[in-house]
Amino acid sequence: MPELPEVETIVRDLQELIPGTTIKNLQILRPNVIRGSDTIFKDNLIGKTFQSISRRGKNIIANMDSGLILVVNLGMTGRLGLQQDDCVFTHPAIYFTLNFGKILVYDDVRRFGKLDIYSEQEWLDRSAQLGPEPLSPEYKHTDLHEKLNSSGSPIRSWLLDQKNVVGVGNIYANESLHLSGIHPQRPANRITKTESQLLYKALRKILLSAIQNRGTTLRNYRDVSGKGGNNSSKLRIYGRHGENCLSCSDQVQRISFSNRSAFFCPSCQR
Ligand SMILES: [Zn+2]
Repeated sequence: MPELPEVETIVRDLQELIPGTTIKNLQILRPNVIRGSDTIFKDNLIGKTFQSISRRGKNIIANMDSGLILVVNLGMTGRLGLQQDDCVFTHPAIYFTLNFGKILVYDDVRRFGKLDIYSEQEWLDRSAQLGPEPLSPEYKHTDLHEKLNSSGSPIRSWLLDQKNVVGVGNIYANESLHLSGIHPQRPANRITKTESQLLYKALRKILLSAIQNRGTTLRNYRDVSGKGGNNSSKLRIYGRHGENCLSCSDQVQRISFSNRSAFFCPSCQR
């Protein structure tokens, strides 16, 4: 599932290609990836020009010259890419024909992704319901600590809740908890101030280095040109159960709760 670093990589790719281009035509092959009517979706986008591309949490935000905002959430397996010789799309859902002769494809194997159109005010309201951006300069370790105090949820589940902090999914939650020495099942409100500072630093370090590595490809994730990310070989705990911890050589364990696997080192994480 694409998390903050993968979505950020796609957004940076799109920022080089898309602003200033106009949607000449729109072909919807799989209407269930669109929220609402496909006729209204087409009416709102055909003939409109992309002004800017940005990210909020795991959402790709496209501001159109009409003032409307196209929000793309990639769900589990969504992809946005340019149709070109070396870029293979197996499950195309939408074709955006652009005025410079290229086709932008939304492809989604499992179709849990969603494309939705918002007015500026509707998006502001929706965005206000989401938690803070972990890489924003305004986000401080004291903000994290304060919010942790008000919840008894296991920290791994707490990190996945987009109302607490956006963009973190299971891979980077597990990696950050290993780096900060916190057990994934520890209740959020039992994390000390010192530990929350370590977690804050770990979260930012893990996310930033994953962006530098253009994201983690375990199976489906691809960038706009169809290439996988380089971060999977850098993972220190996720998916490594049965192998030795890279910090202490104890054996990495896997447990499952809230329907998701968690990976941890019993010696390094308490
Ligand atoms: Zn260890």
